[in-house]
Amino acid sequence: MNPETMFVLRSATLGQELDRSIKALRPGPGGDPARMRILERLGASLLASLEAFRERLTALENNGRGADLKARWGALHNLEDDSERNRKEAAEIALGIAMRAAGLDGGVCALADALIVELCNRASLRWSGMTIIGPEHDYRDLAETIRLRSRVRDIWELPVVAHEFGHFLRLHLIERDASFGIHDSYYGALKEDAKVWTEKEPRLTWNHVQEVFADVCAVHALGPTFARAAVFLVFDPRENSVWKKTHPSYSFRVQVICSALAALHDGTERPFYGIAGELSEAWTQACALAGSQLAKDDELPRTIVANIWRLLGTTFPRLRYVRGPAFIHADALLRTPHDPALLTKAPIGEVLDAAWKARLEDPRSTASLAERVTTALRNES
Ligand SMILES: [Zn+2]
Repeated sequence: MNPETMFVLRSATLGQELDRSIKALRPGPGGDPARMRILERLGASLLASLEAFRERLTALENNGRGADLKARWGALHNLEDDSERNRKEAAEIALGIAMRAAGLDGGVCALADALIVELCNRASLRWSGMTIIGPEHDYRDLAETIRLRSRVRDIWELPVVAHEFGHFLRLHLIERDASFGIHDSYYGALKEDAKVWTEKEPRLTWNHVQEVFADVCAVHALGPTFARAAVFLVFDPRENSVWKKTHPSYSFRVQVICSALAALHDGTERPFYGIAGELSEAWTQACALAGSQLAKDDELPRTIVANIWRLLGTTFPRLRYVRGPAFIHADALLRTPHDPALLTKAPIGEVLDAAWKARLEDPRSTASLAERVTTALRNES
């Protein structure tokens, strides 16, 4: 067999994958307008990187044919490794766009987008990404995409996108520090604090601190709605004390979230102090019933929350969640059979807050509440 045969086959496969991804992500003329809008919002950076990888591959295929096959194999392997993250991202986005276009996400991705834009407006940030369905809740910075895990089909788990927004905001905090020429004053302080925290809790890595930051940010931005969605629907009491490579234990996160919620104030009062206590108690009961090991009350989560709280209060004060007139209006409306369209124009965060409150007061109304709120918010987005 010609020693070049396998090289040619392998490079052709990589080329086909890159071509497919580029075609899927390129907003061309004559396409479905909704799909075009999504592709334009994604920004050009991911597409440009894929096109650059394609050029590198074409050059490798055309140049030096027959010469130094070992070096060309090395170059092909490098190209496969370098482009892996981008190829994976492109494939997931193409699938996510197709699911949204077919309505298989139940319209929840568009609501998530609208919620993120609402939070961005309060934080004076611009987000060019989109939300798609993926294997897990996740944020990817390549095209600023947010993933909602595939079981999310209604409004109840939707507030967890605020945690993914927290990852997006953290990256902007770094840029903001740098652009003001005060790099290290905010973000650097967090990194310095993290060294002290790691001494107290050796299992806590910098990755874990980033997750805790996103949790505190989500409470700062959405208040009890995020805390309820995370504790009631996402966290697994059976794994209460398990520290994963990517995330601290649920026990640690619940303590962080409840401390943050208890500390959230509207200038004079702490209106969510009681809800924080109820959530903490509900979690402890769930863990006991699941036979999971209960953690002792720890000082460290409170220390971490206090530091991140100060940082967010200084850098993004307008992002802080306050129950305003929209919450009061939605709270009253959801108790009556009024037209849900009256909820339009209201901030999504406050409507979701009222919906969660109504659901806990009357669990039998879960499905009808979700339908009414979704209809109202869909009209809006
Ligand atoms: Zn996260």
